[in-house]
Amino acid sequence: MKIKSAEFVMSNSDVAKCPKSRLPEYAFIGRSNVGKSSLINMLTSRKSLAKTSGRPGKTQLINHFLINKNWHLVDLPGYGYARVSKSAKKVFQKFITQYFALREQLVTAFVLVDIRHKPQPVDLEFMQWLGENGIPFSIIFTKADKLKPKAIENYVEDYKNVLLETWEDMPNYFITSSSKDIGKDDVLNYIESLNEN
Ligand code: GDP
Repeated sequence: MKIKSAEFVMSNSDVAKCPKSRLPEYAFIGRSNVGKSSLINMLTSRKSLAKTSGRPGKTQLINHFLINKNWHLVDLPGYGYARVSKSAKKVFQKFITQYFALREQLVTAFVLVDIRHKPQPVDLEFMQWLGENGIPFSIIFTKADKLKPKAIENYVEDYKNVLLETWEDMPNYFITSSSKDIGKDDVLNYIESLNEN
């Protein structure tokens, strides 16, 4: 898929106020600092559509972007930021839970995982929660430029083994690097294939 246009639509903290349109929607979520903003900028070929976070955990908003005038890319807040208070975590959970419960337009979520880190409980728990709630998701491994091809292969194999302890199948996954422009077409073509269905 070629990105012809990418426009910011709105940011808000209330799921009920998200765009009413029925356009298919794809949500990007992951731990703070995983490289989500960089990935969104790579996918849309825009330098600063999503603001790369100076202070992780600060932006707790749902951000809608309209792509090619026919689908929404949604930048969800990063989770698992240690310096956020317990009450802030609760608000975050409620807000994310509501987003996934109420957004019927959501086609799939992309859970971002930093390829340098071992499977983290917070990511595994989040994927588990998505699975239990019947929300389709794929994994996007970020920062692949940090590892050599063989190490990437081993890493993905280890990740698979951990997931297969609780899952029957490995979810769809993508290997990406925003600094080296890797994986962009794979993710965009996947979205295009889902949009066509
Ligand atoms: P966010 O908090 O998840 O939105 O993450 P950002 O996109 O702001 O990135 C967090 C940090 O990771 C920044 O210092 C980025 O420069 C760095 N980063 C993001 N993507 C990549 C990547 O593909 N490769 C490398 N090496 N660093 C990256």
